[in-house]
Parts: sequence; structure tokens; C-alpha cells
Amino acid sequence: MTINIFSVDLEEWFHILNTDQIPNINHWINMESRIVSNTVKLLNLLNKHKTRSTFFILGWVAEHYPELVKEIKIQGHQIGSHGYSHTLVYQQTPEEFKQDITRAEDAIRAACGEKPKAYRAPGFSITASTLWALDILAKAGYQYDASILPADGAYGGIPTANPLPCRLTNGLLEFPTSTLNVGKKRLPYLGGGYLRCLPLTLLSQLSHIQHDHLQPLVLYIHPRDIDPNQPRLNLPPLRQFKSYVGLKSTYDKLSYLLENFEWGSMNEFDDSSDHTPSYNSLEPMLA
Ligand SMILES: [Zn+2]
Repeated sequence: MTINIFSVDLEEWFHILNTDQIPNINHWINMESRIVSNTVKLLNLLNKHKTRSTFFILGWVAEHYPELVKEIKIQGHQIGSHGYSHTLVYQQTPEEFKQDITRAEDAIRAACGEKPKAYRAPGFSITASTLWALDILAKAGYQYDASILPADGAYGGIPTANPLPCRLTNGLLEFPTSTLNVGKKRLPYLGGGYLRCLPLTLLSQLSHIQHDHLQPLVLYIHPRDIDPNQPRLNLPPLRQFKSYVGLKSTYDKLSYLLENFEWGSMNEFDDSSDHTPSYNSLEPMLA
């Protein structure tokens, strides 16, 4: 049976990209924190469904909430990295990217004793122009990446990328976020704002369509996605909608999906899978 991938980007309610409403990283510690209670809620839900997730932990979060990271590891989830400073990959040089992932690794290892082997870029920002980041990750010992959105996204996306899990030549197992073809376009539906926005019936139908084609679902969620009481930033109307739609119903949607599909972490998928397609180069991803 196909194992589907459940993943969490472990970051605060205010780690929203590209807004001047968020202070500089040096002042993040002065912001209200909601990450512990929201993550515990997610952990309890996963526990109830005996499901392990891959947690892409922001290095800054690991540094400030090491007990939370330790608890995630104790509960058997896969430890991954979301970088340290939540900076888009294409806003960094390769050297800065290397420094950012190293700083995150150090913070995560200090918190839970484990070096992350999985990575997801903020905003899916490994794009056609920043594929060098995948080689840096492979050289640094990573085994899994989930930074590719095989569609047009707000901050990233490679619309022509292979939409299914695939092995890259540098050895990384790539887990692109789930998309479905709608006309000539591929649309993401199974994570963050997309998941919050769609009604449960449609979400369920789309997941079943993909599942019936034996395509593993790759879902991502943030702790803030299940927090209707989080403070609201003063964003332009469309971003306001995208950031805060469906906060009340998302927990129930996740419960439904956990109940009705079999989920696991990326390393569980790798361990159990003999059906991962293998590709000889990055080209098929971009074809
Ligand atoms: Zn993020």
C-alpha cells in the first residue's frame, strides 16, 4: 500500500514570508509565542492516529524551544531542517545558504542530539535558478529534500518538475508537494493555505483521485494552520485571506485525512518503499 507523506514546517505564527509587518530576526524573541501549544496539539493528533511525520524544524525555533524539539524526537517523528532564519533560498548566495543550513543543524542537534537528514526550503524556494542548493544539501549529508513545488507558487515553484517522489543523481530523494492537473495547470492543494481554503469534501475528493492513481500524497502543515486565536498581521486583503482562511476547520480536515489515508514520515516511506521511481539526472524533473 502506498504510504503518504505527512510533514510539518515547525515555525511560529509570525513566520510569514515577504512582509514588513515582521521585525528583524533579532526581535523575534519579543513576539508572542504560540508554537508550543499548537505543536503539542498536532503531536497529540498524530499520536492518536499512530502516525509519524517529518518535522522540518526552523533552526531559530530549535534554539529557543529545545524541549519541544526533544519531545518531537522522543515521540518518534523524523527530524528535518527548515533552515535557520526562514530566508528564501534565492535571496542567498550558495555560501550564505550553506551557513544557514549549518547553523540550523547545530541548533537542532543541540536540542535533540540528532543531525537532520531532511530539508525543506522556506516558501519552496528551490527553483530552476537555485538547483545548486540540492547539491549543497547532498554534499552536507542530507538524504531527503521537500523543497520543490511542481507548480507556480507565491515564493517558488518549478511548474515543469516531476510531480512525484524521485531519486536525484546526487542521491537525494525528492518529495515534491502534492499537486493535481486542472486543465493545463498543476495546482497544489494539500498543504498550508491551499488546504485551509478548500472545503473538506473537495479536499477529500482530490486526495482520493491522487491516491487511486497510486501516487503518494505529500502533505505539509504549519502549527499556526490550526490556531484560530493567533494574532493577525496587518496584511493586504488577498494575503490576509490566504494567511488566515479556514483556521477553525483545519484541525478537523487533518483528523479526517489521518483517519482515511495511511501516512508516514519520509524515512518511513524510504524504508518501506520499493516503488520509488529512479531518475538518472535532474532533467526528468525539469522536462
Ligand atoms: Zn516556513
